[in-house]
Amino acid sequence: MKGPLLQVQDLHTRFETYRGTLRAVEGVSLRVARGEIVALVGESGCGKSVTALSIMRLIRAPGKITGGRVFLDGEDLLAKSEAEMRDIRGGRIAMVFQDPLSTLNPTFTVESQITETLRVHGVASGAEARSRAVELLEAMGIPAAKDRLRSYPHELSGGMRQRVMIAIAVSCQPELLIADEPTTGLDVTLQAQIMDLLASIKQERGLATVLITHDLGVVAQFAERAAVMYAGQIVEECPVSQLMAEPLHPYTRGLLRCVPRLGRPDVPISPIDGVVPDLVNLPDGCRFAPRCPAAMERCGQAIPRLYPVGGERTVRCYLHEPPDAPATAREGD
Ligand code: SF4
Repeated sequence: MKGPLLQVQDLHTRFETYRGTLRAVEGVSLRVARGEIVALVGESGCGKSVTALSIMRLIRAPGKITGGRVFLDGEDLLAKSEAEMRDIRGGRIAMVFQDPLSTLNPTFTVESQITETLRVHGVASGAEARSRAVELLEAMGIPAAKDRLRSYPHELSGGMRQRVMIAIAVSCQPELLIADEPTTGLDVTLQAQIMDLLASIKQERGLATVLITHDLGVVAQFAERAAVMYAGQIVEECPVSQLMAEPLHPYTRGLLRCVPRLGRPDVPISPIDGVVPDLVNLPDGCRFAPRCPAAMERCGQAIPRLYPVGGERTVRCYLHEPPDAPATAREGD
């Protein structure tokens, strides 16, 4: 039996700042099967985008991956040369960002940006690349695709730019797509259209996707599994249906209380008290302890492990510690 397409093991990424070491990602482990959509969920600054950039080996100084392994179909990406990684990025792994304007080159037409990607990755060139570009735009639901090839990014609407970016991302038939807040900043209708497009691409092409988002509505609708991140660590991981029906970690419960429940006007919306910890000065023990309504004395002493709680579910919280768990926890477990 084939293993997972993507396997991240005990990943650590740090940034050296003038204030000290910023521990952005601490012991993150994640696996994504072929054709699966896994959401990395959390507030801004929780480490989800740094995790994605680490998978792509796009962390730049003063940042550094300080530990862990990242496997794509069994190949260790952290052991690859920079030239090999350039081939993998945009080829086997593609990335879609929140702001297409920061990714698309403003000085080149849509046509040249798509055909260049196809040429660089050895997929097609010349007239064949151009006709592939038209097909891709049509597949992304862009009307008058031939005419749009001549457009520059600033001549397109926000939704259209996002579709072009997705067209470029899937142009070389990647195995894995990393979509970082792909709909943030778009209006609700466009959000739904872009997410529907990503879901249909996944369906048609069997594309595995890591969906990075703070939006639990998007998670509920489109992801199959979710890993909730808080202050650089995964605190709960499980199938999305379980996460929505019965969140176990106090932080996940808090996140869900922050969003209106469909058809449940009786459930009040309440924000999580307190602020996210400073990643340079992290609290001892559980990182959520300063904000946790259920915190106990031991929560401030050692970081809880990710405890298995049945099936495919894990929770980093002493409330869910099995009776036979070891007495102490290693940081990053
Ligand atoms: Fe709250 Fe303690 Fe659980 Fe952390 S370990 S989430 S502080 S109960």
